[in-house]
Amino acid sequence: MTYNYSFEIAATIIMFLLLFTHLINPNFEMAKSRAFFFFLIAGICESILNVLSSWGLVNTHIVSSDANNIICFLFFLAEAATSLLFFRYVTILCEPARKKRVLYAQLAIVPCALFLLILFTNDIFHLLYKIEDNVYSQGKLAWYGYAYIGLYILASFAVSITAKRTIRGRNRYAVLLAASISLIGVLIQYNIKNVLLTGFANAIILSLFYIFIQNPNELHDKATGISNNRALYLRFENGLNIEKPMRVLLFDLHQSSQLNVMYGYRIGNSVLSEIGAFFAETVGSSNAFRVSDSVFAAILKSDKEVERVRLLAEERFSKTWDIDNIQIGVPLKMACIKYPEDVLTTKDFYGLEVFVKQLLRKDSMTTYLDISPEIKKQYIRLSEVDVALKKALEDKSLEVYFQPIFSVKENHFNSLEALARMFDKELGFVPPDEFISRAEYSGLIIPLDLMILDKTCDFIEKKILPNNERLKIESVHINISALQCLQPNMDKAILDIIDRHKVPREMIILEITERAAVTAAEIMERHMRNLKNCGIRFALDDYGTGNSNCSYLIDYPFDKVKFDKSMVWAYFKSKTGKIILDGEMKTIHNLNIPIVAEGVETAEQIDAMNLLNVDSIQGYFYSKPLPGDELLDFLFRQDITTT
Ligand code: C2E
Ligand code: CA
Ligand code: CA
Repeated sequence: MTYNYSFEIAATIIMFLLLFTHLINPNFEMAKSRAFFFFLIAGICESILNVLSSWGLVNTHIVSSDANNIICFLFFLAEAATSLLFFRYVTILCEPARKKRVLYAQLAIVPCALFLLILFTNDIFHLLYKIEDNVYSQGKLAWYGYAYIGLYILASFAVSITAKRTIRGRNRYAVLLAASISLIGVLIQYNIKNVLLTGFANAIILSLFYIFIQNPNELHDKATGISNNRALYLRFENGLNIEKPMRVLLFDLHQSSQLNVMYGYRIGNSVLSEIGAFFAETVGSSNAFRVSDSVFAAILKSDKEVERVRLLAEERFSKTWDIDNIQIGVPLKMACIKYPEDVLTTKDFYGLEVFVKQLLRKDSMTTYLDISPEIKKQYIRLSEVDVALKKALEDKSLEVYFQPIFSVKENHFNSLEALARMFDKELGFVPPDEFISRAEYSGLIIPLDLMILDKTCDFIEKKILPNNERLKIESVHINISALQCLQPNMDKAILDIIDRHKVPREMIILEITERAAVTAAEIMERHMRNLKNCGIRFALDDYGTGNSNCSYLIDYPFDKVKFDKSMVWAYFKSKTGKIILDGEMKTIHNLNIPIVAEGVETAEQIDAMNLLNVDSIQGYFYSKPLPGDELLDFLFRQDITTT
């Protein structure tokens, strides 16, 4: 028989090229990369041995019978390995649970063990093949060679179909396609024996896996040419098991996000690409990463290395980056997160990374941050608050307290402010300033605000409205965060809740800080006008804390202004504080907007606020925020004393 080797030779060349590109790119998904590498090596060996064995059996005048026997033996060995390693690669892609992984490995070994038994005893029983007088003939179990490959193909189909939830969409298609190609290859080869095709099928499958799954571009940051955040994630995750210790040096180039705005995209990208090249050169290309737009990172092995890189980076960033004769300065801040000292998991690492970044950006004087025990403690507390908050929202255990607001003109408490309270089994009482800022950070503030609104409306419906002839509560204030105002359906969500509890819309006053007006200017104005048309009112909260100016009062339809407690307190502390509050209050009076003074604690403060002509007063002088029932008792008691 004469053989046609051309497909097999082409396949070998393709596989060598794949091997080359696979080796020159940094690999971060260790288990997957390793499995791919071994499958590729087995594929190459199988192809070469396939050509050699067929050529040897034709050219018997050059290759001896013994040599042909050995080559055939090695070919079958490579074939056994290729199928097994193909299946192993597929099971890794499917990311099964540990128990399943062990089961797959055990089951996979059975057909292979049987094949090896037949192969290693072939010299005695000749079940697979026989070479007699340098002539090749098939043994009784030669079909098993094909069935063996088929078994692994079917198993791959089965595993990738059953692992629907753990295998990434694209990977699943790649596996199904690869298994189909392999199956077709085996069937053709079984029928057309003189054209060598197995290697060709392997080359197609390996190329498919390379393009779809191993593709190094997925882990590359295009702008800088270094590895991206996913690569860092994988590298860190892998490092947890094998690299101890790891130091991640973070480089925060906060201002670099402005580069494109200031110099245009072309120059902005050139600076980034130079910065990327600097990091790659300083720490090695497989250790340098771009984590986000303006944060880079290096994974290093020791504190000594950290010190070295830190000094080099400080030195480089003290100079400018020169692009097209423009000298561009990029300020640098750094922090180092240590494994295992500071974090034990990848999730922890990313949590701490965000926290560290916030700390760096908050303080303009800090240029290098070492994670001190104090910082770690703060971070652990934040994580605990995050967990507790999530739980509280899930089981709706957040409570609402109400603080009465005294109307000077009407001489009684005519409104309330609803304030969220969190009591956690483990952490005890968590102050709102702590959990509200976390909720704003994680986006949980959106369900939180709505839940507080819902509970407040429930309280109004069940406890206030039935008694309101006596209580005379005209309005209830509810805090709404800036983030809420960005929600496209914010107005509808709020109206739904109020209407569901049959609360008169005029009773609701939403408190919004000026921060919301800055963050969500346009959309907020739209929501406000929509809601106002439906009868809802608004108060500008925390007046005097930000870079407050009354332009918000002109642009947005606010019905009340709440002076923040810090401003009220400043009035009694310093002359400047007095002058400012005086002036601001006059302006707002002139705009004809009612004023609420917050944080009033003493009789002296009450007198001063009365002199200043504020409309309403809220503070500990009258009452702290109280649970609903206690608030009712408080209001009823007032009723008795005033009548
Ligand atoms: P805020 O909106 O400025 O609420 C007034 C805060 O001042 C409340 O703090 C209240 O207990 C406190 N306060 C009132 N009178 C006095 C006083 O005389 N002396 C002192 N020292 N404090 C007084 P609280 O309840 O701790 O809430 C803190 C902040 O958390 C609130 O400040 C508000 O911004 C936020 N918050 C509370 N509940 C919610 C909510 O449901 N949603 C949103 N988005 N934010 C909320
Ligand atoms: Ca408020
Ligand atoms: Ca306030």
